[in-house]
Amino acid sequence: MNLLTVGSVAFDAIETPYGKTDKIVGGAGTYICFSASFFVKEQGIISVVGEDFPLATLQEMKDKGVNLEGLQIIEGGKTFFWSGKYHNDMNSRDTLATELNVLGTFDPIVPESYQNIDYLLLGNLSPEVQRTVIERLAVRPKLIAMDTMNFWMDIALEELLKTIQLVDVIIINDEEARQLSGTYSLVKAAAIIQAMGPKIVIIKKGEHGALLFHGENIFYAPALPLADVFDPTGAGDTFAGGFMGYIASTDDYSFENMKRAIIAGSALASFCVEKFGTDRLKEITKAELNKRIDSFVELAHFQMKEI
Ligand code: AMP
Repeated sequence: MNLLTVGSVAFDAIETPYGKTDKIVGGAGTYICFSASFFVKEQGIISVVGEDFPLATLQEMKDKGVNLEGLQIIEGGKTFFWSGKYHNDMNSRDTLATELNVLGTFDPIVPESYQNIDYLLLGNLSPEVQRTVIERLAVRPKLIAMDTMNFWMDIALEELLKTIQLVDVIIINDEEARQLSGTYSLVKAAAIIQAMGPKIVIIKKGEHGALLFHGENIFYAPALPLADVFDPTGAGDTFAGGFMGYIASTDDYSFENMKRAIIAGSALASFCVEKFGTDRLKEITKAELNKRIDSFVELAHFQMKEI
């Protein structure tokens, strides 16, 4: 096992122009694990749920090679709940409710079997919890990546900056990059964020793809133009899970390999948005994924004639 994720395992209620769901399974950690499972046979997760969380989902995660030793089930506790409503453009959303529940008092215990992992992905949750996991690992992983969101910038900026200082890669969306850096230009924002700690900054731009700032180098990956986006929830986590799953399975975090990892993450995210929740992610095959990766290569490939 060389990939460990920390992230919420949750219930979500989602409203998009295509429809509305009651409580369904979501959570950053859930999307990440399902996504990374396309590349790594075994992975670990540190998270917490209440007694109300469906055991069937936990079994599905196990079946995909997720070791659940680090997932705490709190007796009598309630699982984290998030609810959001998307605007018509599907790129922006309003958070309607964030009920931390068992996540509010979460002490992330690192099981002995998770020590010595090479790749750590700090999915979106409290920056204090993210940092505690780094501190509890006896040996620093080869690469630490983190995701975060405006919620933590609004309520825990100081804690967030302390955690950002410790990581190698930060994965955020354009709006969050602007908020964190206090600047509009994403090129300037990336430089400001790099100065905060992470030398690698990945900025997701929803349907407009993603930018990778790797030291001095920049790479742009498109998003696949899709006719219908049903539910963008979890697309960012799916992207991050695919990205880190690919890096962990190839054990290579060079700039060239990160480009491939970004395409892998983007391809998985393009599936995620086709159905509500984690449903689509759970059903796709390796062949479908490979076909979609080919579409990305084709989309961005051209030969220039001399002028
Ligand atoms: P994304 O659409 O990639 O930004 O991720 C959405 C997922 O993040 C949902 O499934 C939520 O359960 C989870 N989520 C939303 N807000 C938070 C939060 N404050 N802490 C942890 N997880 C969250």
